Amino acid sequence: MSPDLTILVDSKVSPSLIKNIDQLLLEVFSFNNIVLVESILLPHSCWDKSRHQYNASCLLSFAKSKASNEIAALIIATDAYVPGLNFVFGVAARDQGIVVSTFRLENDPEFLLKEITHELGHIFGLTHCSLPCVMTFSNSVWEARMKSNIFCEKCWDKISQEKY
Ligand SMILES: [Zn+2]
Ligand SMILES: [Zn+2]
Repeated sequence: MSPDLTILVDSKVSPSLIKNIDQLLLEVFSFNNIVLVESILLPHSCWDKSRHQYNASCLLSFAKSKASNEIAALIIATDAYVPGLNFVFGVAARDQGIVVSTFRLENDPEFLLKEITHELGHIFGLTHCSLPCVMTFSNSVWEARMKSNIFCEKCWDKISQEKY
């Protein structure tokens, strides 16, 4: 059975970045249904005022609380981190959801779609991949920019077989 996806969009994200995002994701993933919830206000408790970044793990729990029976995808405009890393493009927790920040994605909807695809790949059980593939790990904007925006054949096979 295909899962449902709830996309939660931070009120600071420019609408041009998420135009047709639901249709674009349905071209890749077999979600049963995608619901878009805009103008989300982020909880202050996840803001790290000394780092000027959101704690992405904290936001992931918040996103999950907003979408109880579905996969949650929270898109935020502000920079984010997880403890141990200077910044993250996004985070994913299997069976929970993803958080993706547009902050370093150069205001480019295709770049955002690529990062969302990567994080959703983790939701469907994929780990990082070394082939030219959207599941390649990127440590910098340059690496993220250069990586493929589609799944390699091996990852694609795994996702297609995944029952979730
Ligand atoms: Zn990853
Ligand atoms: Zn791959």
